[in-house]
Amino acid sequence: MSNHHEQPVRRMSTLLARTLREDPADAETLSHKLLVRAGFVRRSSAGVWTWLPLGKQVLDNVSRIVREEMDAIGAQEVLLPALLPREPYEVSGRWSEYGDQLFRLKDRKGADYLLGPTHEEIFTLLVKDQCTSYKDLPVMLYQVQTKYRDEARPRSGVLRGREFQMKDSYSFDVSDEGLAESYRLHREAYVRIFTRLGLDHRIVSAVSGAMGGSASEEFLAPAAAGEDTFASCAACGYAANTEAVSHPLGRAEGAAAGHGPVEELDTPDTPTIESLAAHLGVPASATLKNLLVKVDGEIVAVGVPGDREVDLGKLGEQLAPAVVELVTAEDFTGRPDLVRGYVGPQGLEKVRYLADPRVAPGTAWITGANRPDTHARNVVCGRDFEVDRYLDVVVVEPGDPCPACGEGLSLDRAIEVGHIFQLGRKYADAFGLDVLGPQGKPVRVTMGSYGIGVSRVVAALAEQTADERGLCWPAAVAPADVHVVAAGKAAQQELAAEAAGALAASGRRVLLDDRAGLSPGVKLTDAELIGVPWILVAGRRAADRVVELQDRRTGTREELPLAEAVSRLTA
Ligand code: ATP
Ligand code: MG
Repeated sequence: MSNHHEQPVRRMSTLLARTLREDPADAETLSHKLLVRAGFVRRSSAGVWTWLPLGKQVLDNVSRIVREEMDAIGAQEVLLPALLPREPYEVSGRWSEYGDQLFRLKDRKGADYLLGPTHEEIFTLLVKDQCTSYKDLPVMLYQVQTKYRDEARPRSGVLRGREFQMKDSYSFDVSDEGLAESYRLHREAYVRIFTRLGLDHRIVSAVSGAMGGSASEEFLAPAAAGEDTFASCAACGYAANTEAVSHPLGRAEGAAAGHGPVEELDTPDTPTIESLAAHLGVPASATLKNLLVKVDGEIVAVGVPGDREVDLGKLGEQLAPAVVELVTAEDFTGRPDLVRGYVGPQGLEKVRYLADPRVAPGTAWITGANRPDTHARNVVCGRDFEVDRYLDVVVVEPGDPCPACGEGLSLDRAIEVGHIFQLGRKYADAFGLDVLGPQGKPVRVTMGSYGIGVSRVVAALAEQTADERGLCWPAAVAPADVHVVAAGKAAQQELAAEAAGALAASGRRVLLDDRAGLSPGVKLTDAELIGVPWILVAGRRAADRVVELQDRRTGTREELPLAEAVSRLTA
């Protein structure tokens, strides 16, 4: 967007961009619908997208800003292969850990390859190959590259692709302080990137998931279409992905004793909490929900109050590195002690019992009696059953206390656009990445890894800024600066071409709608759909050299002489 270099005018009459009036049938999210309708992207196969000229402009604008800010913190750009051998991912364990997410393939000799989902292994090997002394560090490397993940639900257009563009960077330091500094540099660069992009964003604490490692934060773009939910506290500023909200486990204490004896209840056909609460006429919170899961293959029960849900992400995080899975019908064969829908912690001798702290000693519950169609009341924690381990594993709900200050939390949907991790020495350990220290002794390197979903950002920006008329790009990423619309008559065409020429000569990127045989109304509708920040129309008063200038965002229109419009847009 240089102010000085003349730009070529892009003509709608020849541009590969066919706008559509109808939403694509399979599109659920706004960005998916609009990016397809406005001719920015085209579906190739499930989760795989072609970027058409307008979309490619936006994508390039995003990656240019990302590159500028990465360069500014001293990160060096490289480009690694996307086609990778199995071996390093075998060493790290991710060849199998990634499960069905990984695209695996064989070459003609039968050797295993994969399409890179993220590149910690390969960067670790690169640095091991290139850096031998502590003097070679710290080093920060990045690439903007195509990534591959065989996502289970690739359904929101470029928001969740199976092939997508990611900026991934990696930092290598000899000390924990060095890593903290590389992390801080990235965090600040990310704030500058998302601010320059015009993306509304929040930084939230995150769980580290399959990456391993310790400190990690996500950059989330609030949007209804987001697949993430984050909790935030207006009182103290706390913000975290709901999966990462964990309350300190205080002393679990319940009501005083004095409960009656356990009493069995005939409760036919009540395998769910809803059916049970309705049958007995009690609130769901009076019942105890017992979810069976497998932890490294062993069946365990997780108890939470009946009005709460278990967050499997939180459970997995707290039990990591153990693998948590849901039980299947087969797990019940040969287990008469496990009665589906009627499980209760009392008398579950062979099953470990994990519970939410609300299931405190002294509290009494209505829960399964471990017999079909039967429940039990007055089942008292500490008297009738023991909790083996307390965990905070309930799905966070609005109004739950903030872990930092105790005030009520709010929940909002958001799109994860970036993720920064202090990985530590996990990969350096796996690959034996050492450098020679000042005393001539080897020092183990510590790493950070940092991602931005470059193609996802395009969709996130569309989600946040679109209105009922279409896309509405922030100036920094828009596919053009001005969209010049020529109404049908010769004088109008000429004035439009003159406007486009003058703007382009002073470095503005211009999209000129010079298509013949279309009504001004259709052209204007297309211009609003495409969402360039300024729309300049040579119409009714073209003979007087007067044009109409529309601010796409506010919809404000103004008639003014062409010369004035040009000088305003090039100021
Ligand atoms: P998600 O939870 O959305 O699947 P992730 O946590 O697996 O993402 P990371 O491994 O942290 O993703 O990847 C870094 C960044 O790459 C993410 O913050 C996101 O912006 C982007 N990204 C991840 N998966 C996809 C995808 N399938 N399509 C587009 N962008 C993606
Ligand atoms: Mg992530």
